[in-house]
Amino acid sequence: MKILTIADQKVNVLSNVSFEAIGAAKSLGGEVCTALLCGEAGEMANQLSAKGSKVFVFAHAELTNFNDEAYASIIKTLIDREKPDVVIGSATFYGKALMARLAALCGGGLASDCTGLSLEGDAVTALRPAYGGNVFYTIQNNASTSFFVTVRPKALPEAGDDGGGEVITETVDEAMLNTKAKVKERVAGSGGKVSLTEADIVVAAGRGIRGAENVGMIEEMADSMGAAFGASRAIVDAGWTEYSNQVGQTGKTVNPKLYIAIGISGAVQHIVGMRASKTIVAVNRDKDAPIFSIANYGIVGDLFEIVPALTKKFKEVMQ
Ligand SMILES: Cc1cc2nc3c(=O)[nH]c(=O)nc-3n(C[C@H](O)[C@H](O)[C@H](O)COP(=O)(O)OP(=O)(O)OC[C@H]3O[C@@H](n4cnc5c(N)ncnc54)[C@H](O)[C@@H]3O)c2cc1C
Repeated sequence: MKILTIADQKVNVLSNVSFEAIGAAKSLGGEVCTALLCGEAGEMANQLSAKGSKVFVFAHAELTNFNDEAYASIIKTLIDREKPDVVIGSATFYGKALMARLAALCGGGLASDCTGLSLEGDAVTALRPAYGGNVFYTIQNNASTSFFVTVRPKALPEAGDDGGGEVITETVDEAMLNTKAKVKERVAGSGGKVSLTEADIVVAAGRGIRGAENVGMIEEMADSMGAAFGASRAIVDAGWTEYSNQVGQTGKTVNPKLYIAIGISGAVQHIVGMRASKTIVAVNRDKDAPIFSIANYGIVGDLFEIVPALTKKFKEVMQ
């Protein structure tokens, strides 16, 4: 079996999910290769090959920023040449857009946002949660072409540094960069220094914080413990923070080791995006708030007293 993984990079820095995709590929056995599309490969190609993968590098200034049309055209030529049985990408916004386009271009089946990959006999089987993680179902490819799978960040272990990979520099066909849409500029959001979907700790705020002027207080707490900042939809809709910070059904799905929900009631649409967190801590003044039914630890009280006290303590401990 041949498996192609798609590296996930932003501004020439790899996301951990790139290594998780290689780990998933290696767990299936067979030959593992990786497509890296980027502005400058730098250390990224070596980091990927150290995991034991044969890395095909397509480097061009026009590929620095994700462009699904250009990325898909280039990867399709690689798929036509290498003929992988399985193609594994990341279940990030970029990865989901790319893999859906690729599956359509190649006529393959797509399993999106998977949390497991295994072999049932000869058939690659993807495991996918549904209904907020209450139901799991399996998906197999029914097409004769490649099986496209996106894996949820932090759901699977990263590949070890086993070595044995190699780096192959490919030529970028300039015609493929002539896309209908062009990325003119990339503007960094206010979402903090740590990526929400890759963070080990998420500190998330809800309507209990009362106003946009208090977002900084929660971000400061997140910074004090090296956490990413998350938000409920209520405060995104209110315009207190950006949509890119939203956790939940219509936002991002997160899997951190620790999720701290502050002033969040625990609506089902929020919970589906964070219930897979290993440990959940809730801060809420309403002891009957639904969030406490899934929290491992609960603090009943006023967040305006509790958050500054926790931030002070974390700053002391993290010094
Ligand atoms: C189709 C659809 C999709 C949706 N998608 C999402 C989604 O992706 N993500 C999402 O989050 N929501 C989503 N929602 C909205 C969801 O239903 C809830 O409305 C939303 O999650 C509520 O946000 P909240 O918990 O911040 O606000 P609230 O429900 O208003 O809760 C605020 C909480 O703060 C507490 N509080 C108030 N003051 C204090 C204080 N001083 N100290 C401590 N606690 C305090 C209150 O007790 C309360 O529990 C969706 C809804 C629909 C219909």
